[in-house]
Amino acid sequence: MTDVFDRATEREEEFRADSIEAWARRRNAGLGEESATHCRVCEERIPVARRRAVPGVQTCITCQTELEHATGGGN
Ligand SMILES: [Zn+2]
Repeated sequence: MTDVFDRATEREEEFRADSIEAWARRRNAGLGEESATHCRVCEERIPVARRRAVPGVQTCITCQTELEHATGGGN
């Protein structure tokens, strides 16, 4: 019985560690844990559909496109 309990706790801790790691990675990538309601660059409202489609989004489509062109990150 003790073995089963220990294993369950272990798995739970592993799962939590994974979640924290994923969250930390997103932060390191410069993204907040939540999508912004307004563009960080031009303060235009970001459509709900875009916020749902792009988790942690911080800019509107216009600014995102411009940033990608500026950094050469786009296609
Ligand atoms: Zn913008």
